[in-house]
Amino acid sequence: TLPLHELSLDHAYAGLGDSYHARVSPSPLPGARLLHFNTEAATLIGLDPAAADDPRFLEVMAGNAELPGGDYLASLYAGHQFGQWVPQLGDGRALLVGAVGAPRGGSWELQLKGAGPTPFSRFADGRAVLRSSIREYLCSEAMHHLGIPTTRALCLVGSTEPVRRETIETAAVVCRMAPSFVRFGHFEVFYYRNQHSRLQPLADHVIQRHFPELWQRPDRYRAWLTEVCERTARLMAAWQTVGFCHGVMNTDNMSILGLTLDYGPYGFLDGFDAGHICNHSDEGGRYAYDQQPRIGHWNVSRLVQATLPLLHEEPEAAVEIGTAILEAYGPAYGQEVVQRWRAKIGLREHRDGDEQLINRFLSLLHQGRSDFTRSFRHLSRLRAGDQGPAAGVREEIHAQEAFDAWVTDYRARLRAEQSDDASRAAAMDAVNPKYVLRNHLAQRCIEQAEAGDFGEIDRLMRLLARPFDEQPESGAYAAEPPPEARHISVSCSS
Ligand code: AMP
Ligand code: MG
Ligand code: MG
Repeated sequence: TLPLHELSLDHAYAGLGDSYHARVSPSPLPGARLLHFNTEAATLIGLDPAAADDPRFLEVMAGNAELPGGDYLASLYAGHQFGQWVPQLGDGRALLVGAVGAPRGGSWELQLKGAGPTPFSRFADGRAVLRSSIREYLCSEAMHHLGIPTTRALCLVGSTEPVRRETIETAAVVCRMAPSFVRFGHFEVFYYRNQHSRLQPLADHVIQRHFPELWQRPDRYRAWLTEVCERTARLMAAWQTVGFCHGVMNTDNMSILGLTLDYGPYGFLDGFDAGHICNHSDEGGRYAYDQQPRIGHWNVSRLVQATLPLLHEEPEAAVEIGTAILEAYGPAYGQEVVQRWRAKIGLREHRDGDEQLINRFLSLLHQGRSDFTRSFRHLSRLRAGDQGPAAGVREEIHAQEAFDAWVTDYRARLRAEQSDDASRAAAMDAVNPKYVLRNHLAQRCIEQAEAGDFGEIDRLMRLLARPFDEQPESGAYAAEPPPEARHISVSCSS
């Protein structure tokens, strides 16, 4: 491992040229203080963990000094926000520093989110508040440890810089890491501006660097888009089966690598409501929990449309290929989601009727608004050979009559594959997390941090690094939110 200043950076994205970004220096951040350092993320880029105590590291992460060898830029993109075309967005508060080669292969781009205004800030201040930065920092790592593709986070820097939102808050910077931060909107901007010649260099950059196995194929754009389509579908399946609601699935928040990207007003389901809307500003429920898979498809459709010029010279032929690409979404989603649900209820084999069994369980959770995470976690306690009420699980379920009837069929299904209670329980506990970043846990952490106590950030980071382990000393973190914290609504303001 090396100190930050000795890591070597490359600038492949910058190499695309000026049409794709603007060069920007970070704005100085007063009173910068390292609030958390993620040793695991540091390891990924070969960074010496002693960086946590190096004042030069803090200066760079706060944006008070530029990293020698860095090439700071804000990238250009656009996007569909809540279904509406917005012709120009771009990194309004995030700066790409460069990409660090990973000791284990591949590379990680470093991005400072909240580092000050850019030409794409429009009328906003280029900052991110501590509150939303803590939420992004904790959740991206929590998602990773749940096994869900996501951007990562290297460190969290707080400050004394006042930032005006609904109230006055303070600014913070998260150093995000991802192999690429390219979004669907990076392609859309050139399509709708009629700058189609800019699509191919960007697509080639993405394919060469991130889908190298496709580069030699004569149909490389088609193969690449099909892969993005399938990754997006599988990401949606992962979100649905862990009860994650993104909240702002605009095409500018959709990763070309199929990563969870841009943690704003997201939320994990507490009581299961299939129509749950986590974003206070999403009045129509466009991005409600049960809409996410459909929206994922809509978003990929926007990407495919924007890249039609790459698919064929003849528009009609291009549309035909585009349509065929999008047909990959449904099966990719369907297979992944059924496999995940099946694992969550502990089924090894595929049998007719499994989907109905899964759907009936989800319906009864919805009917009683039972806690999503706890219901699945406790289900592993059920014994296949028992008769009568399933003690240890039933307590979690509010629609108990429907549950009892379901249990009879579920036990019969388990016996049909000679399911062994102990090994099924172990397998289920490895896919049904005990701990997720519930809103009230993040909220308590934020309130303490705003009062100057940052200990809870580290406590949650450690807890959420092992979401499937029992961690009895932290049992309280697995509880349902107290009644007064059930309806925390998260605004878009960040
Ligand atoms: P989001 O809703 O967070 O995905 O952001 C949408 C767009 O607004 C992106 O272009 C952001 O960079 C930009 N943006 C959000 N907040 C700010 C801010 N405080 N300053 C500048 N740009 C911002
Ligand atoms: Mg965004
Ligand atoms: Mg955002």
